[in-house]
Amino acid sequence: MVLKITGKTKLLGIIGDPIEHSLSPIIQNRALELKGLDYLYVPFAVKGDNLATALNGFWVTGIHGFNVTIPHKQAVMPLLKHISPSALLIGAVNTVWRMADGWHGTNTDLDGFIAPLQRLNRCWQDISPLIIGNGGAARAVVVGCAKLGCKNIQVIGRNQEKLAQFKDSWDYAQLNAHIDIYTMDQLSSLIPVSELIVNTTPMGMSPNSALSPLSLSDMELLSPSHIVYDLIYNPSPTVLLQQAQQQGATIIDGTEMLVQQGAVGFQIWTGETPPLEEMGRALLDHLLLS
Ligand code: NAP
Repeated sequence: MVLKITGKTKLLGIIGDPIEHSLSPIIQNRALELKGLDYLYVPFAVKGDNLATALNGFWVTGIHGFNVTIPHKQAVMPLLKHISPSALLIGAVNTVWRMADGWHGTNTDLDGFIAPLQRLNRCWQDISPLIIGNGGAARAVVVGCAKLGCKNIQVIGRNQEKLAQFKDSWDYAQLNAHIDIYTMDQLSSLIPVSELIVNTTPMGMSPNSALSPLSLSDMELLSPSHIVYDLIYNPSPTVLLQQAQQQGATIIDGTEMLVQQGAVGFQIWTGETPPLEEMGRALLDHLLLS
């Protein structure tokens, strides 16, 4: 990449702590370069206590927009002038842009999650998805499933107390779906009745690539009618997806979600159509080399 930074170059970025692992600079800079846009996307390591100071600094130095990652996705919300209804429902913001009256924010993990599912020809209102895990990403997945039309959403986790808090945390009138919670010992009974299974835990993520949230006997319960979606993008595919594919299930990995969530941010910041294919290739090239 040949960089030509001028006095007019607009700055985009991502804030988090840690931030070194982020793949967004790879995806976004490839897209900006390909479209010939005079922008640069850089990582900013910002500690929790410094979040408000960082946003003030971004404002006065003219930063055009930025992504927000762990641990700031909730903490950034009171610092924004406007938050989209879907981000309010999820309770987290991952994309922020400058407007005349201040920062505006939304959550593009939701768009990223549903993009590959929208291509599938399924009757979503008849499907009760099974979401494994009840952390931050699971919140965007719940809203994504509700947006697709699913009415009964099943969330399974390892901690009863956290699961109960998760269930109680929703504005159900806005969500327009019902949530049932289950503990991991109920997994095998839920697989046959859940056409869509989504792993939102880090089980199987590098360097613990040999792990899977489903045991070998759970795997045997999968059939060609199942869609198995793993949010993990490294490795791609995970053991879960490799085994689900052997059972004939439709599989979706986390790389497209990562690219699609970034593509929505790209469009918000630049007003340009994102070069999706190239963004995906940049991500896969980088993962292959790392
Ligand atoms: P998080 O907030 O820490 O939540 C992780 C969830 O997984 C928690 O519910 C946790 O349970 C559960 N969990 C962790 N280890 C487990 C284990 N060994 N057995 C059972 N449950 C376990 O993390 P997150 O931000 O939601 O991210 C989760 C995963 O999604 C990560 O792999 C991340 O890379 C991926 N992700 C991908 C994308 C994408 O664009 N593809 C976007 C966001 C996230 P407890 O609550 O009991 O601790």
